[in-house]
Amino acid sequence: MVATPIGNLGDMTDRARKVLSEVDLIAAEDTRQTLRLLTHFGISAKLVAYHDYNETGTAPRLLAELEEGRTIALVSDAGTPLISDPGFSLVAAARERGLTVVPVPGPSAAICALSAAGLPSDRFLFVGFPPRTRSQRRSWLGELAGERGTLILYESGKRIVGTLRDLGETLGETRRLVLARELTKHFETFLTGTASALAQRLEDDAEQRLGELVVLVEGRGEETDDSGRAEAERVLRILAETLPLARAVAIAARLTGTKKNALYRLGLDLALGQGAEDASAEGDDG
Ligand code: SAM
Repeated sequence: MVATPIGNLGDMTDRARKVLSEVDLIAAEDTRQTLRLLTHFGISAKLVAYHDYNETGTAPRLLAELEEGRTIALVSDAGTPLISDPGFSLVAAARERGLTVVPVPGPSAAICALSAAGLPSDRFLFVGFPPRTRSQRRSWLGELAGERGTLILYESGKRIVGTLRDLGETLGETRRLVLARELTKHFETFLTGTASALAQRLEDDAEQRLGELVVLVEGRGEETDDSGRAEAERVLRILAETLPLARAVAIAARLTGTKKNALYRLGLDLALGQGAEDASAEGDDG
């Protein structure tokens, strides 16, 4: 299982190069893509296609080769095989047969993003790509609402805004999110904010939807408890009808026990407190 770079070719390890040049066969998700990588590093090798839809067809052949004593490296287009990429059934079948499977570690976008996002990293849950349809995505996210560790998702630029909106509606607007885009590449960007603030940012700036993305979501904490969050939002909305946001936040924090900075972020995202300012301005005129 040989990991390859997720963007920056400088991340290719010496060991990965050595293994790829020594094995009898390289099983690759996309042989043309891997051929480009091998050519770049001056490695010539025999390639065979291995992806999800031929996993059952190719696996028996690869297993037979291994049983005959040949060595095979499995690579995906980028990053670590099996992480939202093909290979699981091959590894499981190889292990069942008592064959040797060794990891040749390197980058994976999920871990790469987590290491630089600034969200808790002591406990996390990688969940891969969300379902594509809205209803399935929302129930999938709902099942993750109770997770206390940081959630790590992969998403495409095409669906990211919808997924951020669903994240806000399902998990609430008090959690911090980080969008890690184009990791290790020229346009590497980290954006931080609540789900709706990030959705708006990406809607306004199409460039931020380009390339590859990892979404990290702060796990459920005391102040992100969903029933508590709903109550805090309800109280804040009522207070902000007649009070400026800072005052509404201070009172809502005392009433609900929710942290002030979380309430303030929520108030800004929901554009609360503006009516109160208009009302007091009208009052001043009168
Ligand atoms: N096996 C890979 C790994 O270890 O990261 C992941 C493969 S998965 C099919 C591809 C997804 O990983 C992309 O859609 C994106 O969500 C994420 N990804 C891959 N490279 C990335 C990068 N350079 N920056 C941000 N996300 C990336």
